[in-house]
Order: sequence, then structure tokens, then C-alpha cells
Amino acid sequence: MKILGIESSCDETAASIVEDGYKMLSNVVATSMHEHAKYGGIVPEIAARSHIESIIPVIDEAMKQADVGWKELDGIAVTYGAGLGGSLLVGVETAKTLAITKNLPLYAANHVEGHVYANFITESNLDGYKLPDKQPDFPLLALIVSGGHSQLVFFESHFNYKLLGQTTDDAVGEAFDKVAKLLGLPYPGGPNIEIAAANGDPDKYKLPKARLSNKYDFSFSGLKTAVLRLAQAEVGKSYDFPSFELSGLLSEAQKADIAASFLRTSIETLVDKTVMAENEYNPKTILIAGGVAANSELRLQLTKRLHAELQYPDIKLCTDNGAMIATLGCFMAMNNITPVDPYKLQINPNLSM
Ligand code: AMP
Ligand code: MG
Repeated sequence: MKILGIESSCDETAASIVEDGYKMLSNVVATSMHEHAKYGGIVPEIAARSHIESIIPVIDEAMKQADVGWKELDGIAVTYGAGLGGSLLVGVETAKTLAITKNLPLYAANHVEGHVYANFITESNLDGYKLPDKQPDFPLLALIVSGGHSQLVFFESHFNYKLLGQTTDDAVGEAFDKVAKLLGLPYPGGPNIEIAAANGDPDKYKLPKARLSNKYDFSFSGLKTAVLRLAQAEVGKSYDFPSFELSGLLSEAQKADIAASFLRTSIETLVDKTVMAENEYNPKTILIAGGVAANSELRLQLTKRLHAELQYPDIKLCTDNGAMIATLGCFMAMNNITPVDPYKLQINPNLSM
């Protein structure tokens, strides 16, 4: 069974072919990230235009890399939500057209579920991927942390899951990006916060952790505001001082200490809740997925504090890619999930789990 996966929910245009839900035959990603860098965050219109330019060459390349013809494919899976409307439309309309013209079944994939399925890829002829030896065992707990999501999900088995908690405001990756912007660090913020934090004192500042009525929910907007107030106070300015002028006044040492304190607080929040969920649900495997799963402090702290086996994808499969969607598509087909009508599929930017 070979499935073509198409992903265009944010700023990556991606396509991949995966065989039998574990073997990655190709993985092609074009990103418009550099075009957004000067704005410090993603500009939806720029992302959508870039998808239009890239989608056909990316799919072509994925077919070539896998050395697979259209007749050898068993289906197409496409991300139909959650994501940016204009971005999702490009992938979905392309997938619908291909499904109709090539006469292939079409599977509608949830982007966040896709991130989890990146962990099921165990084999590939492609160079440069560090893949796990075996697929995760159920029941499994997934911490999905990205630029758009912060969720804890408990899976009993394939497609049988329960959302334990999610962010009530900003996603954790978004908080990394916004704090980085305030400190004058380049976009994307996550990796640059990590670099800056390496020279800072993580205990220098005490930053708040949100308390929520659902103990598995997250909230990062208060933390982000606390960093802003802290930076203003550090340079002796009041709360109405514009955030974009702060990075020019903060010393390198202050920036490093703020980055380190923010990193510690945000990672502790994620780890505390994952540990709590492990104690309540006793999963066999714990997965981390999404762009923030690339964070080395998160991996280190989880490895230290969890009992169950921790699994995470290769960094190239943590951020948005088509292979996770193709893998999810394989499992949808193998579990007899009904394909969608390509004439009727609509995007769903606010799709939840
Ligand atoms: P995604 O939405 O899955 O494409 O992931 C992108 C998000 O992951 C952005 O918000 C990045 O700032 C964040 N990210 C990437 N690498 C890291 C890292 N090493 N630490 C923390 N966040 C990261
Ligand atoms: Mg994502």
C-alpha cells in the first residue's frame, strides 16, 4: 500500500510517499519561512502564494524521489485542517483534482493527528534520517507541541483517542516565537531561544505558570506578557513602552537570562502536565511531536522524569512534512476508514482532535 501525503497547512509545502504505514519512500518540503522572517511571524497571504508556486513541483519531486508512478499509488491523503485557510486550500484543491483525475481514493487528514503518526515511520532509503527501531506501542500518550498547537492526547489504539487538554490561548511554539521577537532574536524563535538561553541563568527570574480548571490545559499568553513586563522593568521603562524597542536596550546578558528563564518555565509546564498524565493513564509509550519537540531541554527533562518509553521523530519529521500525512493516510486505509468524496471535501481551519 502506497499513499501520497500532501501537507500545506502553514508555511511548508510538502509531499511524500509512504508504504504500508512505516516505510518512507520520499519526503519533499519547500518552505516559505525565510519570506516571513522579516515580519517575525507567518504572513498568511505570503504563505498561500508560496504554496501555489511550490505545490506541483513538490509533488512531482516526491513522485520522482520515490520512483513511483500514479498507477502504483493506492490513495492520496491531504491535510484539511487545522491550519491557515488560504494555505489549506492549495493542498486540498490540488489533492481533490489529483484524486479525481487519477481515480484514487482521497483521505482527509487531521494535521495534529499527522504529527503523532510521524513516529510510526521506521524505515527509509533516504539519507540523513534517524528513525526509531519499532513503531510505538499502544496505549500511548502524545504531547503535540508546535507553532499552532499544544495538546495532550491519550490514544487507546489507532483512531480511538481522547483529548486530555489543549491550550486555551497561544500555542507554546507561538510563545517561543513572540518572546524571541521581543528579545530581537530571529524567526523561528524556538531554536534561537535555545541558543540564547545556553549563556543565561534559568533561575534568574521567576515567571508565572498558569493554573487552569482542567489540569491538562495549557495557557502561554500570560507567560508571554510576563516576559514583556519583565523586559520593560529591566530597562527601567513603564508598561506602555513599545515591545519592539526593548531589544535595543537590553544587554546580551539580560537577553540570555530572560531566554533561559522563559525556556525553563515553559518546558517545566509541558513536562509537569505530561508527567501528571502518565501517572493517571499509564501509557506504554509517550510521544512528542510538532516543531517544539525539537527542543533539547524538553527531550532531556521528559527523559529524566517519565517512566514509560519516550519516542520522538527525527528533527526533519518534527516540523511540518508530508510523510506524517502519508503515514496517517496508510493507517486510515488499513483501518478501513472511508475515503472522502473529492467533489465535496472542504477545508476546516479550526479542526480539533
Ligand atoms: P510546526 O508548527 O510544527 O511547524 O513547528 C514550528 C514551531 O516550532 C515554531 O513555533 C518554532 O519556534 C518551534 N520550534 C522549532 N524548533 C524549536 C526548538 N528547538 N525549541 C522550541 N521550539 C522550537
Ligand atoms: Mg504543525
